[in-house]
Amino acid sequence: MLHDGSLQTPNSNRQAWNRLVDVYSDCQECSLHKTRHTVVMGEGYAPSSILIIGEAPGHDEDWSGRPFQGRSGKLLRKFIAEAGITDRFITNVLACRPPDNRTPMDHEIQACLPRLMATIHIVEPRVILLVGKTAVHSLFYNSDMKTARRKARLLKYRCDGKSRAIPTTACYHPAYILRNPDEMDDFRLDLRFAVELLT
Ligand code: SF4
Repeated sequence: MLHDGSLQTPNSNRQAWNRLVDVYSDCQECSLHKTRHTVVMGEGYAPSSILIIGEAPGHDEDWSGRPFQGRSGKLLRKFIAEAGITDRFITNVLACRPPDNRTPMDHEIQACLPRLMATIHIVEPRVILLVGKTAVHSLFYNSDMKTARRKARLLKYRCDGKSRAIPTTACYHPAYILRNPDEMDDFRLDLRFAVELLT
């Protein structure tokens, strides 16, 4: 099963998105296809101000087909709204749920990277926010959260023969914030920093 998210777009990004959804509707590039219920492509606006990239679908996302559901999803969406981010797109490093929500493996991340890069290409974000250490590791190898938060690094990529570099920053995963409520204020500041990169 596939969930193509809901793409809100005024222009030809729609065609490119539909093509991408077609390509990944029955993706079997990694073994996660054997246990997933839904391919979770992401949802939001294209173009968007901010592209939010998390780790992978969990139980609720796998069954609903929507990224960032459940308690941690609610928290992230609340803080995104508070930060005044409206035209955003949300996706994950992986489009399929790892069994028992285990951490994604490197070969799975590599297998799903072309989908993520194509999503970035279609969504045309002005800023990227990496949510959690898996997203940081996947796009900036060997980086840790300490060196990624409240800093803007350029994510360079090539897709369809075009090169781009997008200011990219990071915040903790909301699941971590739920376990460590003392970090809530820092989480807010991380999101504000992402918004400041738009100006
Ligand atoms: S996680 Fe990505 S690469 Fe693996 S099966 Fe799903 S869509 Fe394909």
